[in-house]
Amino acid sequence: MGLNIALDGPSGAGKSTIAKLAAKKMGFVYVDTGALYRSIAYNALTKGVDLDDAQAVTASLDGLDLKLTYIDGAQAVLANGENVSDKIRTPEVSMGASKVSAIPAVREFLLDTQRNIARENDIIMDGRDIGTVVLPDAQVKLFLTASAEERANRRFKELQEKGDPSTYEEVLADINQRDYNDTHREIAPLKQAEDAQVIDSTSMTIDEVVDAICKAAEQSDGSKKKSDDERQLKREERRNREIMPIHPISKTRKINPLRQAFYSGFRPLVRFIFKCHFNMVFEGVENIPTDGGNIFASNHRSYGDPVFIALMTRVPISYMAKEELFKHNIFFTALIKAFGAFPVVRGSGDTKVIDTSIEKLESGRNLVIFPEGTRSKDGKLGKGKNGVALIATVAQTKVVPVGINFEGEKLSRKKKIVVRYGKPIDPKELGINDASTGSIKKIKKIIMEEISSLVY
Ligand code: C5P
Repeated sequence: MGLNIALDGPSGAGKSTIAKLAAKKMGFVYVDTGALYRSIAYNALTKGVDLDDAQAVTASLDGLDLKLTYIDGAQAVLANGENVSDKIRTPEVSMGASKVSAIPAVREFLLDTQRNIARENDIIMDGRDIGTVVLPDAQVKLFLTASAEERANRRFKELQEKGDPSTYEEVLADINQRDYNDTHREIAPLKQAEDAQVIDSTSMTIDEVVDAICKAAEQSDGSKKKSDDERQLKREERRNREIMPIHPISKTRKINPLRQAFYSGFRPLVRFIFKCHFNMVFEGVENIPTDGGNIFASNHRSYGDPVFIALMTRVPISYMAKEELFKHNIFFTALIKAFGAFPVVRGSGDTKVIDTSIEKLESGRNLVIFPEGTRSKDGKLGKGKNGVALIATVAQTKVVPVGINFEGEKLSRKKKIVVRYGKPIDPKELGINDASTGSIKKIKKIIMEEISSLVY
């Protein structure tokens, strides 16, 4: 467990502003749990659910997948893959969040997500019940408060800047109502943990509150153990990194039978055509798993690589392709899509692609990834990126290393192409069961070494 700072307090006490700044200063991850409740309210509202109907709200959780991601260092919430971070900041959703957060099934639904993040990272988590329910063992517990008028004043200014028409009186009434809801609900009401330190920010500046938090963290044992260098390293590694709880894919899901039948019929034909055109040699085919939901991680020599790999896999593949390829023309786009391509924006820290990859694996397909991210002209294996290791760790699925080999830069007719499949690398067998930086580094190193051993 990392160093956990639980920051609770009423609406508008400035928790998120303060926690964000303090997290940045200390190289911690900031977790805004209110955003999760807001996303549930937003999801229910868009489905037309009456938020006072607990049963209907509970039913709306079915199939809802919420993830916290970090984009350019800022927290974003993905609801079923959609980035809802901006949409959840309206007064309607604020009040909705306050209502849905009183429903036990909603709190239960979010408990594991919050705890998993805290287990794997040094965090500041802000909310209402973090010190009391979510992280009762947090090393540092803080309760940040301010008078209702001061809180209303701050929120009013924030809303005005966004062009929201609410009046100060409305904002104050809202804050009072939400305070009442939060403190009077039966389950996990807003209350200060017995061992929490209270910070009243009514007449404090932002910097003063941030300093008070950093000081509290420094005084705790966990933080002292880390050197400045270590913290700096962690801070860098965390930028743009997805913080994902492990989400092992279900291997019971089979690919759509029609798609499978089409693929099984079509593949020998394509293989025949490729064998006529090139001198294709396949090695290590016995290493190819017979089921789907596996990753094939390969060096990248040509546009034909995904097809070369798929020629010997029984289950259809999906593969990431640079976004530009989807802009050529509609026929080309339709063709690569039919062969399982989906777009990735290179170098953007595109976190959605991780979700899409896991969805593909979960749908029973195999996933082809080129860890180098770009084609190698001279055939030498470049540096691997983290994506493949992260996906394999989060999905807890096997990675089949692949080496694609041919002489020279370009493919030409009758050229000998040797596709070598290595032994699958299984995160579970390696004891890798979390998505921490250490685990990702370890598995990435193994994957790249294995690919390298298959490339000549
Ligand atoms: O903090 P924020 O205003 O974004 O939270 C929205 C609502 O979600 C709060 O009014 C509160 O009712 C609820 N909430 C909660 N427990 C948390 C975080 C937020 O009940 N840990």
